[in-house]
Amino acid sequence: MKVPFLDLSLQHRALRTEALAALAATYDATRFCLGKDVEEFEKNFGATLGYPRVLGMNSGTSPLHVACMIAGFGPGDEVIAPPFTFISTVWGVSYVGATPRFVDVGEGTFNLDPAKIEAAITPRTKGIIVVHLFGQPARMAEIMAIARRHGLFVIEDCAQAVGARYRGEPVGLFGDVGTFSFYPTKNLGGCGEGGAFVARDEATQVKARHIRVHGSDRRYYHDIVGGNFRMDGFQGALLNVKLPHLAGWTARRQAIAQRYLEGIRLADVRLPDQPDYGQSVFHQFTIRHPRRDALRDYLAQQEVGTDLIYPVPLHRQGCFASLGQGPGSFPVAEAAAATCVSLPIFPELTDAQVDHVIAAVNGF
Ligand SMILES: *Cc1c(COP(=O)(O)O)cnc(C)c1O
Repeated sequence: MKVPFLDLSLQHRALRTEALAALAATYDATRFCLGKDVEEFEKNFGATLGYPRVLGMNSGTSPLHVACMIAGFGPGDEVIAPPFTFISTVWGVSYVGATPRFVDVGEGTFNLDPAKIEAAITPRTKGIIVVHLFGQPARMAEIMAIARRHGLFVIEDCAQAVGARYRGEPVGLFGDVGTFSFYPTKNLGGCGEGGAFVARDEATQVKARHIRVHGSDRRYYHDIVGGNFRMDGFQGALLNVKLPHLAGWTARRQAIAQRYLEGIRLADVRLPDQPDYGQSVFHQFTIRHPRRDALRDYLAQQEVGTDLIYPVPLHRQGCFASLGQGPGSFPVAEAAAATCVSLPIFPELTDAQVDHVIAAVNGF
């Protein structure tokens, strides 16, 4: 039995008629940049997921960039972030001329370890970017207590955590700003690039709305420096078609994860922790094994697709070589990168496919 790591064609085939009708309506109305479809999506996304203020943007990287502009990070400032995440988490920090200050992740969940944050705070520290990696909420109560004590601006990168809850509340607004991605492989994926920005207070949202359109609230008047961070009309229309399915897709991901958690019995495997404060939406199901590469080869022989997410932590990337953080700087992140392997987890997987993955892992 073949189990691909991810197959986007199944979901898109199922929604084809509805999606193409929505895109055609947007096309005929020439609502190409922002417009009614995006406004409706912002309203629906906020109502469905529990955010009072939502701004559609043109990628998941853009709201992170905008957040760093609004926070006022700049040259000489340090922003704390985990080294085990997608590179985009910290691009905004670099774009505004500030410096990422990495802090290691915890053993169990791959998320920022609150116990290690305070030692990294210096007079230059201005903010923290928290990532809810693989859909699992980070320890927001502890992180926010530290942030308040030191007056830090907190950005939650929820690119992988749409619908995830921390102690019953949606992730994204424990800090100042939350950001989402609708890249096609995300839990709520567009047909192209997309993202969203949520803010706890209205002034921040208004500022982000102006930054999104060239720093302007009236055409051709630019009171602040902005950019072009607008969401396409097509993405708004398409995401409006997909959003009603998100709760069902999330429940299916959670059911698959439960099956993996109960079924995988391989010695030496480390399953992802499921702490009681968080309700993961399982963007990934990532296990660790000391012989990861051999396990991965074996799974490939059993026709089980896997991926390495992530093989190189951020402090070891060439773009951050100037930070001078050699091997051993962040041992937990480095061990995760060396031993992790992600298993197939997408809503259209059948139970038989999930059981095949479990049998293949256990057979290693
Ligand atoms: C996908 C992702 C982003 C944003 O990526 P885009 O491709 O720009 O939408 C940011 N952070 C994390 C952790 C991600 O996984």
